[in-house]
Amino acid sequence: MPGRRVRFSLFKLWSSAYAFAGIAGFPEVEMAIASGEQFGSLKDRFGGEVLLPADTGYDDARSLWNGEIDRRPAAIARCTTIEQVATAVSFAQEYNLEIAVRGGGHNYAGHGCCDGGLMIDLSGMNTVTVDPAARRARCGGGTTWAELDAATQEHGLATIGGVISHTGVGGLTLGGGIGWLSRELGLACDNLVGATVVTADGQTLHASADENPDLFWALRGGGGNFGVVCEFEFALHEIGPMVNLGLFFWTIDQTVEAMRFMRDFVDRLPAGNGVQIVGLNAPPAPFVPEQYHFAPGWVLAVVGFRSPEDHAAIIQPIRDGLAPTFEFVTPIPYTALQQMLDESAPWGILAYEKALYLDELSDAAIAVVAEYMPKKSSPMTLTPVFPMGGAYAEVPDDDTAFGGRRSAKFVFNISAAAPDQDLLDADREWVRAFYDALLPHASGNATYVNFLAEPDDDRVRASYGPEKYDRLARIKAKYDPHNAFHLNANIKPAD
Ligand SMILES: Cc1cc2nc3c(=O)[nH]c(=O)nc-3n(C[C@H](O)[C@H](O)[C@H](O)COP(=O)(O)OP(=O)(O)OC[C@H]3O[C@@H](n4cnc5c(N)ncnc54)[C@H](O)[C@@H]3O)c2cc1C
Repeated sequence: MPGRRVRFSLFKLWSSAYAFAGIAGFPEVEMAIASGEQFGSLKDRFGGEVLLPADTGYDDARSLWNGEIDRRPAAIARCTTIEQVATAVSFAQEYNLEIAVRGGGHNYAGHGCCDGGLMIDLSGMNTVTVDPAARRARCGGGTTWAELDAATQEHGLATIGGVISHTGVGGLTLGGGIGWLSRELGLACDNLVGATVVTADGQTLHASADENPDLFWALRGGGGNFGVVCEFEFALHEIGPMVNLGLFFWTIDQTVEAMRFMRDFVDRLPAGNGVQIVGLNAPPAPFVPEQYHFAPGWVLAVVGFRSPEDHAAIIQPIRDGLAPTFEFVTPIPYTALQQMLDESAPWGILAYEKALYLDELSDAAIAVVAEYMPKKSSPMTLTPVFPMGGAYAEVPDDDTAFGGRRSAKFVFNISAAAPDQDLLDADREWVRAFYDALLPHASGNATYVNFLAEPDDDRVRASYGPEKYDRLARIKAKYDPHNAFHLNANIKPAD
């Protein structure tokens, strides 16, 4: 599912400079117990497209964003209706098949696909309807942010989505959802007002503040543990159509002073502005002076959602404080902002990541960053750092199941991305070493569960904390007692 070609595609040349090599093979595994005949009966009951390994389109349908994942489900149910999702879930239960639910397919661990089980592919459930008067949008469980943004922006409205538009609304929202608007309007899950869910027993339930409120609470941060969300309903806000972007770059040898400067700048930045700090190699974009093409360094991105004058006043202290190597300041359509980074993370890239929360970006933590950043191997490997605060921090922790620290000032992500296996393997080790060195400066072992590339029960428990985890485990026991939905940051059902 390639990202759309857009006018503000900063990374286009950059990513096309690499030929993406073949995908690593995983060993074949034995198929689960349903036979070919039984899958024939699924085709009859399902009333839509069911792909078996010999079928045309099977390989495309099982592919995921992370090109390192190569899993072969026994069958892929390509759902377009709630009834088909319910049939697929019931069939999997009947034949004891492992279930993988694929929303946008961007989970680093590849939870959207499985070996030998039933992949429930929601990518065809991507209809968006907008009620501008009520400021609400409904979208199917397999919608991407590009699709949702395009529909809401027709009315000058938006909700909080991720910073790369080919990511799925499903996984991103269910695990939390950090975006440019988070300091202004909270997480994607904070803006969820309702969901239609097929649970493990094949029932269809609606969850909102008034209906099945326990399920509604759990869906806002508890991930895909509680059922297949066939439809999401979001609150919308007046945003755009134009917003203001400022990008400021410092070279890698300036890491210590640049990080300290960005930390202090972000601390004083009014909440209604989007901000991200990214360690990367500069793209060969038109606004980057030629001598800095591919140069490693740091970008501070500041997005203003108000007037150009307001944005100009906000970014001036950057120039006055630590003159950047180069900068790029422009008005930009909100939809283009949402797609601006798409090609920095193209579909099929090989990827691995680890992330942690930092209550403070201390000088000691910055020293670790300065030591590790120059050691990465792949030019596509990034360290996106999300400064939080504002509306994100104001939502009471118990209001949602979100498994992160609302008080942390930074989500620090160390993200390896490479066009071939050797480069990825080198940077996977780099990510792990960098993470281990940064951990003593972090807010414990907790992480943002959507940035968890390896299933890790201890880190899932640490991220939710014991009380929230126990509450989630009780809700899991009610809606999915046998843990049918376990390919996720898994909550084990309470006894
Ligand atoms: C390039 C890239 C950029 C990213 N940027 C951001 C960002 O800006 N902000 C942020 O917060 N996160 C970001 N993430 C992390 C992202 O939130 C997770 O990878 C998320 O899991 C992606 O959701 P998906 O639907 O695309 O993935 P999938 O792999 O399809 O699903 C992820 C998990 O959610 C479950 N799931 C998905 N849809 C449904 C559904 N409708 N019902 C029930 N379960 C479902 C799946 O079973 C799986 O367990 C990014 C990830 C990538 C790869």
